[in-house]
Amino acid sequence: MTYFAFSCAIVLACLLVGSIKRQQRLEKEWGRLKKKLGQSELKHEEDYSLDLQNLLDALPYPFFSINKEGVLNRFNSQARHIFGSRDILNRSIHQVFLDSAITSLLSKSLTELKPYREILRFPPDSVFSSQTPDKDSHWEIDIYPLSLGSSSREIQLMMRDITASVHSDQIRQDFVANASHELRTPLSVISGYLEHLTEEGGLDHKETSQKMLETMDRHLVRINRIVDDMLLISKLESDDSVPLNLAPFSIATCVQDVIERLDLVIKKQRSTIKVDVPNIQLIGDHFYWTQILFNLVENALKQNPEMQLQIHIYSELDQDDNFKIHIADNGIGIPANDLPFIFKRFYRVEKHHSQTQVKGTGLGLSIVKRAIEAHGGTITATSTPGIKTVFSIGIPHAYHDIDND
Ligand code: ADP
Repeated sequence: MTYFAFSCAIVLACLLVGSIKRQQRLEKEWGRLKKKLGQSELKHEEDYSLDLQNLLDALPYPFFSINKEGVLNRFNSQARHIFGSRDILNRSIHQVFLDSAITSLLSKSLTELKPYREILRFPPDSVFSSQTPDKDSHWEIDIYPLSLGSSSREIQLMMRDITASVHSDQIRQDFVANASHELRTPLSVISGYLEHLTEEGGLDHKETSQKMLETMDRHLVRINRIVDDMLLISKLESDDSVPLNLAPFSIATCVQDVIERLDLVIKKQRSTIKVDVPNIQLIGDHFYWTQILFNLVENALKQNPEMQLQIHIYSELDQDDNFKIHIADNGIGIPANDLPFIFKRFYRVEKHHSQTQVKGTGLGLSIVKRAIEAHGGTITATSTPGIKTVFSIGIPHAYHDIDND
C-alpha cells in the first residue's frame, strides 16, 4: 500500500511536474502566439489603412474625412492636388477650405448628422478655381455623416468639379438663343414682306416689290447658311472618318473664289486682301476647303465691319514638307482668355445677340477645325488684339502635291 501510495505520488508528481512544464510550455507558446497575433493584427490594421488610402487615392474625385471637432484627418491624392504643398492634415475646416459656403455646410452636417448634396460656385481666386482661371468654378459637393458609436462621429466630403459641364451647358443655351435670334430676324422680315406683297395691290409698285424680293432672297440665303452649318457640323461630328471627295485642286484658285464670293463685303467695308499663295495643287475635298477659307476670311471681315481691315493670306512649306497656309488680319482680335475655346462648337466671344452685334452662331470655326482634321491637318490661332490675328493651317505631305506645281 505504502509502495502503491509512494508510486502514485511519484506518478502524480511526475504528472504535476509534466503538467507544470507543459503549462509553462503552453504559456510560452501562448505568449508567442499572442505576440504573433498582436503583430498580425497590427499588420492587418496597417494593411487595412494602406488599402483604404489606396482605395481613396484611386477615386477620381477629391475626398476628405473630417472628425467631430471639424478637423481634417484624412484625404486622398486628388484632394492633395487641389491644395498643392499646403499643410492641411489635422487643420480645421476653416483653415483648410477658406470658404464660408463649404465650411458652413460641413459644420451643419457635423451637428445635424445629415447628408448634404449641393452645387457650389467658387470665385476665380478660390482654392477651387479650375482650368479656366478667369471664370467661376462649379463643384458638386457630397457630404456624408458617419456615426461611430455614441460619442464619435465623422463626416466625409467628396467633391466633383463640374465647371466644364456647367460652361458647356451655358454655351449650348447661348447657341439656342443665338440661333433662334439669327433665324427669327430674317423670318420675320420675309413674312412681313410676303404679307405686304400678297395684299391686294401689293405688287403694284414694281420697284418696291423688286427691292422686297431681293431683301427676302438675302435673308433666305442667311437662313440657308445657318441650317447648312448645323447640318455640316453634325455630319462632321457624327462620323469618325468624314467621307472626303479627294481630288487635286489649286489652292490659289480656291482662295480667289472665296475672295470673289466676299467681294461685295470687302468693297463695302473698304478692306484689302493681299494673297501670297503659289499655284500649287492640294489633294483634298474642294467643297470643304472652300468652306474653311470662306469661314476664316468672312470671320475677319465680320468681326471688323467698321475698319478698313487688311487681310493677308500667305502660305509656306516647312522643313518637314508640310504645307501651311495663314489667314492674318489686323482687326480687333481675340482676347487671350477666349482663344483656347474659339474652335469649340457654339463658342462665341460676343455672348449677346442684339441687332447691333456681330451675327453668328459659333459654328464657323468648329466646322473649320473638323474639316481640317478630316484632312489630317491642324489649325491654330494667335492674336494680339488690334495688331495681328493669325489662323494657321498645317496640312501633312500626303495631302499636297508639289510636283504638280
Ligand atoms: P461665329 O462667327 O458664328 O460667332 P465662329 O465659330 O466662326 O462663330 O467664331 C467664334 C468666335 O471667334 C467668334 O465669336 C469671334 O468672336 C471669334 N473670331 C473668329 N475669327 C476672328 C477674327 N478674325 N477676328 C476676331 N475674332 C474672331
